Amino acid sequence: MTLISKIDENNINKEEIKKQAEILREGKTVIFPTETVYGLGANALDEEAVSKIYKAKGRPSDNPLIVHIYDKKQVNQLAENINEKAEIIMDKFWPGPITIILNKKDIVPMRTSGGLDTVAIRMPSNPVAKALLEEVKLPIAAPSANISGRPSPTKGIHVYHEMNNRVDGIIIGGDCTFGLESTVLDLTNDVPMILRPGSITKEDLENVIGHVNMDPALEKKEDNIKAKAPGMKYKHYSPNAEVFIVSGKTDDVANKINELVDNNSKEGLKTVVMCLEDNKNKYNCDTIVLGESLEEVAMNLFSSLISADEKEYDIVYSEEFPNKGIGRAIMNRLLKSAGYKIIKA
Ligand code: AMP
Ligand code: MG
Repeated sequence: MTLISKIDENNINKEEIKKQAEILREGKTVIFPTETVYGLGANALDEEAVSKIYKAKGRPSDNPLIVHIYDKKQVNQLAENINEKAEIIMDKFWPGPITIILNKKDIVPMRTSGGLDTVAIRMPSNPVAKALLEEVKLPIAAPSANISGRPSPTKGIHVYHEMNNRVDGIIIGGDCTFGLESTVLDLTNDVPMILRPGSITKEDLENVIGHVNMDPALEKKEDNIKAKAPGMKYKHYSPNAEVFIVSGKTDDVANKINELVDNNSKEGLKTVVMCLEDNKNKYNCDTIVLGESLEEVAMNLFSSLISADEKEYDIVYSEEFPNKGIGRAIMNRLLKSAGYKIIKA
């Protein structure tokens, strides 16, 4: 049985938080909202508890977990060799959607770090996540609360449908405001390296700590296998529908998609287009509007992929987004969900 608690982030029900915190203290699993995506949490220092996360998600055991904290002091309990750049990142961006990789202390089990000598740490800003972490007073390992390979849930209703009865507790909060998983930044070397792009961009980071590298393995499909963040090499964000990105000038993309839609419907395939608000009238088929800005696209991307499945579309065509700023994180997720299939208009 899963204990379900609905919690309003503007009026936090402390009694419900206490019940869910108690479940975590007993070494069990609780799903909670964060500002990035919903997380599936367990005590990061308890190997047996952490094993339950991998089991509930069907996650490969070499894919390490992000440890969530509510107080900067907890970093010293978990990690060592914390350099000046790490201090700057924590002060500037925490609480918020960035995870830092540091050298781990022995207290962090290998099960949590996926066998690595490093640990990933993040302090979330979502008020419900903060209240839960403060109540538990333990570092909580929490990957995205989806079955491995599926899009990450950003809405309470989606997390409930996917994970009810797979975990011990679920806190249903509001929708996740960023909608994409955190930026992952490796700070264990002289030059920091982005292992996963997110809402805090390379440009944001370079403004405060100078030059930052991108893991070169992020750029190409064939290099994903060499990615430094183990999670980046797996099949990811895949709905049941087949996803394609259509690239080119706006009107060419619309013409190409309309042509493809005609052919699909002759074959009895149900198609939907994921597009910007401005372009929706260009398409002769169903559309899912991702938003008006890149921030909105990031927020709505995963929930749109999930809703394409709910409506039983066979094929999803997505417009392409600029590969800079937050667009880099959007394209990283979109390319994975499309299995790197791009149609040139
Ligand atoms: P998730 O929690 O599902 O959003 O995934 C966490 C991401 O962070 C995955 O891509 C992991 O591979 C990556 N990650 C976690 N810990 C480490 C680490 N110690 N070193 C490198 N990447 C990590
Ligand atoms: Mg994930």
